[in-house]
Amino acid sequence: MAGPTLLKESGPREVFCGLTSIVWLHRRMPDAFFLVVGSRTCAHLIQSAAGVMIFAEPRFGTAILNERDLAGLADAQEELDRVARELLQRRPEIKTLFLVGSCPSEVIKLDLARAAERLNEELQGQVRVVNYSGSGIETTFTQGEDGALAALVPMLPSSDERQLLLVGTLADAVEDRLVNLFDRLGIHCVRSLPPRQSTDLPALGPGTTVLLTQPYLTETARLLKDRGAKILKAPFPLGAEGSRAWMAAAADDFQVPSDTVADVLAPLMERASKALEPHRKVLAGKRIFLLPESQLELPLARFLQRECGMELVEVGTPYLNREQMSEELALLPVGTAVMEGQHVEQQLDRVRSSQPDLVVCGMGLANPLEAEGITTKWSIELVFSPIHGIDQAGDLAELFSRPLRRRQLIQPALHPAGSVHPIHN
Ligand code: SF4
Repeated sequence: MAGPTLLKESGPREVFCGLTSIVWLHRRMPDAFFLVVGSRTCAHLIQSAAGVMIFAEPRFGTAILNERDLAGLADAQEELDRVARELLQRRPEIKTLFLVGSCPSEVIKLDLARAAERLNEELQGQVRVVNYSGSGIETTFTQGEDGALAALVPMLPSSDERQLLLVGTLADAVEDRLVNLFDRLGIHCVRSLPPRQSTDLPALGPGTTVLLTQPYLTETARLLKDRGAKILKAPFPLGAEGSRAWMAAAADDFQVPSDTVADVLAPLMERASKALEPHRKVLAGKRIFLLPESQLELPLARFLQRECGMELVEVGTPYLNREQMSEELALLPVGTAVMEGQHVEQQLDRVRSSQPDLVVCGMGLANPLEAEGITTKWSIELVFSPIHGIDQAGDLAELFSRPLRRRQLIQPALHPAGSVHPIHN
């Protein structure tokens, strides 16, 4: 069958774990606290990934568990309860406490679901305690958000109201703009998961139509469907084309006339085309290799190929949910190599032999590749940046054109010196 070539590989991986998603989740829900139950390594990761963003009291922390035998487990449960109790006494503004599991063996032995149950009983509704895993064994970094949202789904109240539910963290300003556009299309009841306040959970039921804003929310989508919501199939809202199709899918479900959709979105598409122009000049004809990390790779590849004229060497993704990604796969050129999973050594060999103009990869791989003269883009930056929607298409393209421009500027200086400095792309 025509379409991209779907491949699979497994082996050593080089990706962040699901704990990383706390960095954007804690910004989205300022009344929630994320207590990582983990080791010093976990504390270190969270501090270095998010530490620079702390301006006031942090809204995440790590309960560090040292090596214990099974006999010491009862103490560990008590210790965890004590840490949680102390935290909640000290910080009465916390409304939801997420207990986040990790991968050290002593944490795996702890039953965090039971701990959440115990604390919920004790706190009698003053604070909601939920648990999920951010373990590097089970999750890559964006899957932490899937785990957190999936843990919230059973707590959503039921409602038959006709509404559109946007699922996945968006920057507040982007969300406001999208809600305004849906309103202009005639879709007036739009809610979000995660909400801006953790206590303001949206209701859910057979009148709910879900638009996923992120491609990595497989488990959350499954649970929402089980609760009666309809999950729309659409390209993801990255780039002008994808964002338009994403909004049009909702408009279609709400029976908005196509003329109205055209009237509201045409001026935005025109603006986006102009905003893309300078970046297209840099990106067109350039070859890009996307290593698997965020699960955003397929929509990004579709945007970069169709709207920016880039050539796709290989599109990696940590996991491929074929059903959820069917609309994206259909938009990729026939024969595009889509690689699910990772064998990092083999992938790096393919990067070296294909010599692409740009590689999208994790931070750990970026500096070594730059040192070899290969231009890179950190995939984590794409999760932290407000890139969703038609209006953001130019900014999204700039994230890719910037490192290429930068490489052009430093190229003459780079080679004579023969040295490369750590990059901040
Ligand atoms: S959860 Fe596992 S992979 Fe993540 S920081 Fe902790 S030890 Fe490392």
